[in-house]
Amino acid sequence: VNSRIFGCRKFRRLSHEQADRELTSPERLFMRRHRDVCMECAKSERNARMALDMLRAASLEPQVAQGFDERVIRIVRVRRVGESLGYWSPAIAGAAIACIAIFASLQLVSQPLDGGPSGTPVGEARLDRPVEFPDLELDQNAPFLR
Ligand SMILES: [Zn+2]
Repeated sequence: VNSRIFGCRKFRRLSHEQADRELTSPERLFMRRHRDVCMECAKSERNARMALDMLRAASLEPQVAQGFDERVIRIVRVRRVGESLGYWSPAIAGAAIACIAIFASLQLVSQPLDGGPSGTPVGEARLDRPVEFPDLELDQNAPFLR
C-alpha cells in the first residue's frame, strides 16, 4: 500500500513535468506501468491532458472559443467537487454532529418551558411580559403581496 501511494505521487509529479521536459525512458516506463495498475492516476492524467488540449486549441484558434470556457469550467468544477467532497467529508460529518448537538441542547433548554413541572423561574420570568409583535402593516405597505 505504501509503495502504491509513493508510486501515485511520483506518477503525478512526472505527469506535471512531462509538459515541461522530455521524460527519460525509465520514467516513461514507470508511467506506462503505473497507468496499467492504477485506474485513478490514469483517469486524472487523461482529464488533465484533455483540459490542456482544449486550452491549446483555444489559444491556437480563436474561433474555437465559442462555449469553450463553459466546457473547461464544467470539467474543472466536476473534478473539484469530486476532490473536495472526498477532502471535506470528515468536516461535513463533524458539522452534522455539531448541528445535532446544538439541536439537542435547544430541545433540552425549551423543555421546561413547555410541559415542565411548576416553579421554573426561567420560564416564568420569560412569560411574565406578554410578547408584543410590531405591527408591520404588510397590506398597506407591500403592494406586491396583493
Ligand atoms: Zn496511482
